[in-house]
Amino acid sequence: MIVGDRKPIEEIKEMLAPYKKILLVGCGTCISVCMTGGEKEVGILASELRMISELEKKDWEISETTIQRQCEREYIEPLKEQFEKADVVMSMACGVGIQYMAEVFPEKIVLPAVNTTFYGTNVKEGEWQERCAGCGDCVLDKTLGICPVARCSKGLYNGPCGGTDNGKCEVNKDLDCAWYLIYNRMKEHGKLDMLDEIIPARSWKTSLHGGPRKRVREDAQK
Ligand code: SF4
Ligand code: SF4
Repeated sequence: MIVGDRKPIEEIKEMLAPYKKILLVGCGTCISVCMTGGEKEVGILASELRMISELEKKDWEISETTIQRQCEREYIEPLKEQFEKADVVMSMACGVGIQYMAEVFPEKIVLPAVNTTFYGTNVKEGEWQERCAGCGDCVLDKTLGICPVARCSKGLYNGPCGGTDNGKCEVNKDLDCAWYLIYNRMKEHGKLDMLDEIIPARSWKTSLHGGPRKRVREDAQK
């Protein structure tokens, strides 16, 4: 899932300062599952903003809604009437949803209430960890399912580096060394000989370094 954190209220207040009629829009998928921008969090932010409006005499009119996904047109389009009534829209989705709502309704400014952080998973209650950086050329077959791009602080394809220390990463002692995890996984599977295979330098054109990416499936187009 895509993981994000809600922006601090002071930053949100500053963004909303020039407007009166504010529409808050939550997203019911990833950002809802990571407890940042779903229906509940939209309700909490709306209450906070109403309280601020009351205390600081801002005269804000806050309305709120949550749709299933902000990254798909079919869920965004039914918001047309609500968009028209608002001076500004604040999205509680990830960066994709925020941008796509602004693309579908270009006449409206859509502000971000969320800092999108990573693609990750919920490893235990209240804790999400990064697992994939969307590099576009997956090597999980060579590392037995542990991503060296997202989970090694230096993105090393052949590791560990000299800084690995008792299974921890030299960049941050709270982090497991990804290559220590890879080594252990290979050992468990009796495949330590995989370490002899040098993973060659790769082209990063398939990653963000090659510019914005797109995927086209002609057979799926009308
Ligand atoms: S190798 Fe690339 S595609 Fe595969 S998990 Fe890592 S970042 Fe994601
Ligand atoms: S200690 Fe391990 S995770 Fe950290 S940078 Fe070195 S190889 Fe990567």
